[in-house]
Amino acid sequence: MKVGAVYDTVYLEHDTGEHTENRQRLEAIVLRLKETGLWERLVHIVPRPATFEELRRVHSERHIRYVRDLADSGGGQIDADTVVSLHSYEAALYAAGGVESAVEAVTDGEVASAFALVRPPGHHATRDQAMGFCLFNNVAVAAAHALDKYKLERVLILDFDVHHGNGTQDIFADEPRVNYISVHQSPLYPGSGNMEERGAGNIFNVPLPPGCGDGEYAGVYDEIVMPLGRRFNPQLILVSAGFDAYWSDDIASMCLSTSGYSQITHRIKALAQECCGGKVVFSLEGGYNLEALAGSVEAVFGVLLGNEKIEDSLGGCPPMEKPPDIAPLMVRLKKSFGLS
Ligand SMILES: [Zn+2]
Repeated sequence: MKVGAVYDTVYLEHDTGEHTENRQRLEAIVLRLKETGLWERLVHIVPRPATFEELRRVHSERHIRYVRDLADSGGGQIDADTVVSLHSYEAALYAAGGVESAVEAVTDGEVASAFALVRPPGHHATRDQAMGFCLFNNVAVAAAHALDKYKLERVLILDFDVHHGNGTQDIFADEPRVNYISVHQSPLYPGSGNMEERGAGNIFNVPLPPGCGDGEYAGVYDEIVMPLGRRFNPQLILVSAGFDAYWSDDIASMCLSTSGYSQITHRIKALAQECCGGKVVFSLEGGYNLEALAGSVEAVFGVLLGNEKIEDSLGGCPPMEKPPDIAPLMVRLKKSFGLS
């Protein structure tokens, strides 16, 4: 079972200084994969830059030129969270293009599945705006590529980053060939992602209260994500893979462990095998605790490679005084999504 990985040092050139989203994230992941011997078991896919026309499928011309011109002028802040440096435009082109390269490798059958280890991340970038550490929406560019180049009619985007992917929702809200399912913490940045936001009936938001861990996520996948996925029957699955729902990640208040990420990956892999010959492409979004990030990405690759037992070297979430009860929410979600 060949598993692809996209990586290039160009992703380190998006220089955000002391920012939470910095080059050390990718360096920690690559180091871990090399230390554990996983690196040499992967098929390394060389990323290419996305073309202007490919970006234009999901972004306005004004937005693309804004990011390019800001980088060309030496960089600056787009908003309080989002930084552009001299080489950020180039890195962002390769981030979007890298996910496209992964889609090409999976669709052409060179690898069974792939994970694009890219930055800057993408899922907050809307059609017309960079925000939340994101410049271009990598997963959206890749989904549009799958629709346009490969003439696919059903692409599923799963988003398990702890934040709602408002940008992906914005871009595909009127595109029934794409289904978007996001499981995220609410309330939390960027404030969107209510279950009432349904787009053209193709948007499915699962807003979870703080404190949800491996058990809650497994239930959400078994009872909501997997049934929705089967119903849509995608030809390709893209995953906005953020690891900031990890219990020790300070940016949010969820309780996933590396075992939890393994369980989620097992389910996504099974869904892909059921629906589309296993074709799934993961794309890195958030995850800011370096140890947790490296361990969780290692766990995802382990599952994709078919390892039965994934070690949880960092331990699970410390027990909570009052764990959240999401049963009533699950009932409402299933009703709203026509699953019950
Ligand atoms: Zn996030």
